Amino acid sequence: MSEATAASGWTQGPGPDAVYAQHLATSELRIQRCRACSRHVFYPRLVCSHCGSVELDWVAASGRGTVYAVSIVNRSADKGGPYNVVLVDLSEGPRMMARVDGVAHDAVRIGMAVQARVAPGADGTPCVVFDAAPGGAA
Ligand SMILES: [Zn+2]
Repeated sequence: MSEATAASGWTQGPGPDAVYAQHLATSELRIQRCRACSRHVFYPRLVCSHCGSVELDWVAASGRGTVYAVSIVNRSADKGGPYNVVLVDLSEGPRMMARVDGVAHDAVRIGMAVQARVAPGADGTPCVVFDAAPGGAA
């Protein structure tokens, strides 16, 4: 896509949420990167949240991140028991909300190195979850 096409057609086609979901459906975590300021953007947007440019490209994210914050939701056992909700700083810069799998919920720590993976969510829709990254703390 040429720059002129990207700029003139920025409100056409599927919206950024739909494009993000399409990538997740093929097990790809892609986030947007701005051509004007070279910074990464997440949550999906039509306009760069850093500089206002509409020239955003979809790029593969490394999936590497660091837990910025963690919260434990103490759901009752008959509804599945406690689970964690984390904010993860991606190595590309943006922060995203997700959960860490494969680790006891009370063992998830701020500063923990994590790796993204696409997995089915509660309703079967693909979503991003994180696993503890080999090597431990970031
Ligand atoms: Zn920008």
